[in-house]
Amino acid sequence: MQITPNGHEPIISPRLDPALKDGKRNILGFDREDMKAALLEVGVPEKQVKMRASQVWHWLYHRGVTSFDAMTNVSKDVRALLAEHFLIERPEVVEAQYSNDGTRKYLIRFADGNEAETVYIPEEDRGTLCISSQVGCTLNCKFCHTGTMRLVRNLTAGEIVAQLMVARDDLGEWENPTEGRRVTNIVMMGMGEPLYNFDNVKKALEIVMDEEGIQLSRRRITLSTSGVVPHMERCGQEIGVNLAVSLHAVRDDVRSEIMPINKKYNLEQVLTACANYPGAHNARRITFEYTMLKDVNDSDADAKELVRLIRKYKLPAKVNLIPFNPWPGTDYQCSDWDRIQRFSDIVYEGGISAPVRTPRGRDIMAACGQLKSASEKKSRAERDREAAAAQAEPVHMEASDSALGWVTG
Ligand code: SAH
Ligand code: SF4
Repeated sequence: MQITPNGHEPIISPRLDPALKDGKRNILGFDREDMKAALLEVGVPEKQVKMRASQVWHWLYHRGVTSFDAMTNVSKDVRALLAEHFLIERPEVVEAQYSNDGTRKYLIRFADGNEAETVYIPEEDRGTLCISSQVGCTLNCKFCHTGTMRLVRNLTAGEIVAQLMVARDDLGEWENPTEGRRVTNIVMMGMGEPLYNFDNVKKALEIVMDEEGIQLSRRRITLSTSGVVPHMERCGQEIGVNLAVSLHAVRDDVRSEIMPINKKYNLEQVLTACANYPGAHNARRITFEYTMLKDVNDSDADAKELVRLIRKYKLPAKVNLIPFNPWPGTDYQCSDWDRIQRFSDIVYEGGISAPVRTPRGRDIMAACGQLKSASEKKSRAERDREAAAAQAEPVHMEASDSALGWVTG
């Protein structure tokens, strides 16, 4: 099931189980159930299936191997069977850019030619990987570069997990997967609205959290949503990760202007969903993201209203103030530094933590809201030709206003 606003938005889903080359399926992205079913289907004896699935799982997700031959504790016969039917295939990293501040941005091309970006942000005590959930985004927030993309499709669970795999390849993490960990945290804050791709995001995060695989704890994973109210509770219940909510304004008129989704789910609905978020408490707060836009949402009155709302809904919350990151063609400007500082002080005085997030990787356009792959720069015809050449079903739609009447107007 694909989750869509109003139940009718035409996000076209990609191939669920991509047949890649020579009829072989990519085993990366299989969850445990898929893996067992697939092994059984290709002739692994039933009584071995559970054990073999665990072994293969370990090699794929704990050790990061890229060939079945490397799976030395799997019998030769089974390895041959696996190689006959499956591939272990990463998507192509078309470009890896390294920022002066250590941030790395990967442009990743999937089997059908569509592209998305993934960003690695090292800090003193952690390394965070910012993962995309869609190619583009249907939501068109006015201040976000991703929102201007024309092509949109959901990423599969395999494509979401693959972003972590290629980052770990590049960071040399597989040598010592537990102690030598460089990706310690994940944020679903790349391109796309993760709650409009709920099932695939859930499946991908289950793979990432599995204790015999990549082993990242749910406490180290944060999902950011623009406020897709009907799926927020499910996110807490079924995935159980930390929640970040893109607030960006404290009045409905302003929020609707900069985030058209507010016309569908307004502030009151979003804040009520936050108050009901399963697992949120003082030791595990909801993060409100608030991008500082000059003369739009940055007044003292806005800061005071933010404090009032958080108190009114009794939210265990902290606020992340994000200096607006510019991109070519934007109408917005970042608030002045003094203004951001003042805003932060007011929120702190109201008893709520409100640090200013230092922009990272701005020199390589890797900072929040700057991501935009080249997927839209080619014509539809070019893209269709490429997709046909890759023997994949093309899965395009245009995030035009007409297709998404409910978010515009
Ligand atoms: N679609 C999700 C997650 C991705 S965006 C969401 O909207 O929450 C990650 C964060 O960056 C969001 O809070 C988003 O609103 C913010 N953002 C988008 N464009 C930005 C920009 N140009 N400068 C600063 N932050 C931006
Ligand atoms: Fe989409 Fe998030 Fe950008 Fe809005 S801010 S357009 S929801 S990626």
